[in-house]
Amino acid sequence: MRSHYCGDLRKEHIGDDVVLNGWVHRRRDHGGVIFLDVRDREGLTQVVFDPDREESFQLADSCRNEFVVEIKGTVRARPEGTVNAEMPTGEIEVLGKGLVILNKAETPPFQLDEHQQVGEDVRLRHRYIDLRRPEMQDKLRFRSKVTNAIRNYLDDNGFLDIETPILNRATPEGARDYLVPSRTHEGSFFALPQSPQLFKQLLMVSGFDRYYQIAKCFRDEDLRADRQPEFTQIDIETSFMDEEAIMGMTESMIRELFQNMLNIDLGEFPRMPYSEAMQRYGSDKPDLRFPMELVDVADLMAEIEFKVFAGPAKDPKGRVAALKVPGGAQLTRKIIDEYTKFVGIYGAKGLAWIKVNELEKGVEGLQSPIVKFLGEDVAMQIMERLGAQNGDIVFFGADKEKVVSEALGALRIKVGEDQNMAQCEWAPLWVVDFPMFEETDNGGMTALHHPFTSPSCSAEELKANPLTALSRAYDMVLNGCELGGGSVRIHDQSMQKTVFEVLGISDEEAEEKFGFLLNALKYGAPPHGGLAFGLDRLIMLMTGTDSIREVIAFPKTQSASCMMTEAPGEVSAAQLRELNIKLRKTP
Ligand code: ASP
Repeated sequence: MRSHYCGDLRKEHIGDDVVLNGWVHRRRDHGGVIFLDVRDREGLTQVVFDPDREESFQLADSCRNEFVVEIKGTVRARPEGTVNAEMPTGEIEVLGKGLVILNKAETPPFQLDEHQQVGEDVRLRHRYIDLRRPEMQDKLRFRSKVTNAIRNYLDDNGFLDIETPILNRATPEGARDYLVPSRTHEGSFFALPQSPQLFKQLLMVSGFDRYYQIAKCFRDEDLRADRQPEFTQIDIETSFMDEEAIMGMTESMIRELFQNMLNIDLGEFPRMPYSEAMQRYGSDKPDLRFPMELVDVADLMAEIEFKVFAGPAKDPKGRVAALKVPGGAQLTRKIIDEYTKFVGIYGAKGLAWIKVNELEKGVEGLQSPIVKFLGEDVAMQIMERLGAQNGDIVFFGADKEKVVSEALGALRIKVGEDQNMAQCEWAPLWVVDFPMFEETDNGGMTALHHPFTSPSCSAEELKANPLTALSRAYDMVLNGCELGGGSVRIHDQSMQKTVFEVLGISDEEAEEKFGFLLNALKYGAPPHGGLAFGLDRLIMLMTGTDSIREVIAFPKTQSASCMMTEAPGEVSAAQLRELNIKLRKTP
């Protein structure tokens, strides 16, 4: 067994006899002396074998990259001139006195320090090798420290870690379920949890008062760069605490975490109502590192001839907004074309712009394909409202409200990033006062958070004006990412029924799907609320990583498969028969 990790050896160990276990990172033959850099999870140490010890010298000479070895030796100072200041162990080396090859290794599909030359698919197929890389080891070690710190914080605050089932009935968190066929109940299916939402609420009814769980959640959605079909939440629920208390306690948790792990003071998180976030930033998770804001100009456009602007300006569901980019007049045609394509992703049909060259010359000093359609007065009024200055560019969006907010909101961040306009490194905030419901494309309604969220108004008011009703939900946002979200829940059975009714869920359906919840609410449910943080995203932000796959040991690909195990896989006819499942042949 090892006496020390390779990466832990320092000057203080000089003269110590040590036993190291690890992998041969590199073997070098320096004129009759063999150097092995031996690696384990804590780092590298250089081991020197000289020909005096014939047997171990020969063995060292036969070692290749990634062989697993046990080494006995003595720590000594590196000779003058060979100290490596870049390496934590760079002042010492180990004089190898004994070597056992515990296992050989074939030439790996890629060398650890050449991972950039191979595609991510190769790395994912051989993830066990990829995870040997120091960066990956650092990230997973960091992740472990974060979960440990969170557990300690929650434990210190009286939270109990309670597990909830993985095989469940479907819960409506708004995504598609992963289903598991039941063998013992022919034709019936379990759903994997999209979150432990209802169970954590029931734990409050049972009196546990403060619950948490580092919980796996499953959502069968089309994947974007920052999504995985299975992901981890820090799931929290409390009783007898209102939104202020819940936000206060979880904000402290995140602040302490950043302070202790990264030595970063996030300060107190500002609050912003949802409506303000949408209006000023076109997003319910605004990235406040960038100063630019969306400015509404529909009132100035309603009467112009140009239908592209006048139409949405007069439409109650439309929006016409402008985004001023200071210094943006130098953007080339090519970049503007790229931005036009970019806003197309969000459904925008084009991207109108005005470059402000010489404001003193009035409309003559504006360069733009659209100024002639706006007319001088309107163009100059817009410039005034935006506080435009020479050298700026102004982008416009005119369409349905959702399209304009999303397109300009995304453009704001893209331009901000491209032009390095961030004014600080970390910008946390709480978004509050969310609407209870939003309209679906087919004219129905859906809960913006989930249907167990308490409204801020009475049941009567909710029924009368569902689309303007606000909820007691809150989201914690950091640098434009939703770190976590939650709400004060409904604990009153009749209010829960009202919400189902507004959502068009019939009594029978509510009874069938949520009868257990409605029953529980009858038997003494305390006021309760909580939230859940996305752990993967939190680690991604804290480690400055671009892809969520880099902070998960064994992630899935964009098409929700595992390159290494090749899951999902086919199953045998016998297994299918046992489950009473017959596959439909695809034509
Ligand atoms: N269950 C919710 C979610 O997964 C979080 C919560 O409301 O606590 O988004």
